Amino acid sequence: MRIEDDIKLDFNDVLLKPKRSILSSRKEVILEREFSFYHSEKKWKGIPIMTSNMASCGTFEMAEVLSEYKIITTFHKYYSIEEYKKFFKNFNNPDYVGYTLGIRERDIKQLNEMIENNLIQNFSFICIDVPNGYLERFLETIKIIRKLCPKHIIIAGNVVSNEMTEEIILNGADIVKVGIGSGSVCTTRKMTGVGYPQLSAVIECSDAAHGISNEKSVGKIISDGGIVNPCDFAKAFCAGADFVMAGSVFSGFEQSGGQTIIKNGKKFKEYYGSSSDKAMLENYGLKDNHRASEGRYVLIPHKGDLNHFLQDLFGSLRSTGTYIGARQIKEFSKRATFIRVNRQLNSSLEQYDINSKK
Ligand code: 5GP
Repeated sequence: MRIEDDIKLDFNDVLLKPKRSILSSRKEVILEREFSFYHSEKKWKGIPIMTSNMASCGTFEMAEVLSEYKIITTFHKYYSIEEYKKFFKNFNNPDYVGYTLGIRERDIKQLNEMIENNLIQNFSFICIDVPNGYLERFLETIKIIRKLCPKHIIIAGNVVSNEMTEEIILNGADIVKVGIGSGSVCTTRKMTGVGYPQLSAVIECSDAAHGISNEKSVGKIISDGGIVNPCDFAKAFCAGADFVMAGSVFSGFEQSGGQTIIKNGKKFKEYYGSSSDKAMLENYGLKDNHRASEGRYVLIPHKGDLNHFLQDLFGSLRSTGTYIGARQIKEFSKRATFIRVNRQLNSSLEQYDINSKK
């Protein structure tokens, strides 16, 4: 047994120190980034934000809105080949969609079908998603998928430590998804005791990924989970995240997945963890006896139209840029000084009140 007793931090353990700035307006802050990748030949340009690959937000309807803003939607795992065929008849924006799969046989079988049906070329990103990225089988599967899809930008996760971040990139991924236990509907920390404070995970894993380089580029990371307030996106970029993935903040909108439910005259939308009993029953028709639920099922007050939220989010990121003197998201981590504070902001799914905007 060993104890690591240096301090590890979450987003709400810190604030950003304002810095002298030559920017005169928020408009000057550029939110788009341009990336090349460690393995893939593809180049990508857009706002480096993505929805979680969850049934409640990784949907076709979200992609239709978010792709217009150059934001990525990683689809949930449960769309069929037929559903993809229908969707891609009218959607052609590969840079802003990701195909998600796990590491089971049925996942590789469906990927092969996607390739045979010429559907996989509709995606720039492939996201290999497992709750626990520390399994030997996970690394083997990344290698297999890199061989099947040599040109795609491969995302793989989730992990929270520097050595595994390096392993994943060296085994074929371009981007490592970072975060265990930080999700708003995740109960992994409660059920298993396993997890890592998200801000520190991002600082440590981005440092590891950016240290792996070749003639094309460096390794990259996504901060996944734990975004509660708009400022958390900025804090994640400041900590070194190349991309930020979020679920709950993209849920509850007209365009999100999940049923709309009316309770006491109020409108709600469902949001549930991919490992919740609800997800197991809904998508596989049963819950494995050997596994406990590691996700919650919640109702989010209906937030209306996604477009309102996006304007607020972009405004908040631009404002952070002006406060810390960063002209573009790329500069956030270079300009950032974090100050440790007593927790300032409550973590709550209802914290961001979109209704005040309407
Ligand atoms: P949020 O943005 O809501 O805080 O977190 C979204 C992230 O939570 C997802 O991208 C995913 O990594 C994680 N997640 C989603 N469902 C579950 C679940 O059922 N259990 C756990 N442990 N994590 C989940």
